[in-house]
Parts: sequence; structure tokens; C-alpha cells
Amino acid sequence: MAKKSQGSHTVGLKCSVCGRFNYAIRKNRSNRKKIELRKYCKWCRKHTHHTEGKL
Ligand SMILES: [Zn+2]
Repeated sequence: MAKKSQGSHTVGLKCSVCGRFNYAIRKNRSNRKKIELRKYCKWCRKHTHHTEGKL
């Protein structure tokens, strides 16, 4: 049986340049907005735009 998750779930943050997942964050289910952040990408070796994506 699947583990019951309440309130929040985990999503990945994907680099928009190389397309790799670099971060996993917990997101509240009531927040429908797509998360977009500038984060450091170790593959691009610079700060890039990261967007939310399913892990
Ligand atoms: Zn990257």
C-alpha cells in the first residue's frame, strides 16, 4: 500500500539549460503555481533558471 502523504509532496527542480534535476523540494498541494527559481546548476556550473517538474 502506498504511503499516505498529507498536505505536501516532493517535486524536482529542473535546470532549463541542460534539463537535469538538481533539487528536490517539498511543495504544498494547495500551491498550484509552478515554482520557478534561479538556482546553481552543477552541470552548467552557473546559476540558471530552474522550473518545477515531476521526479
Ligand atoms: Zn544545467
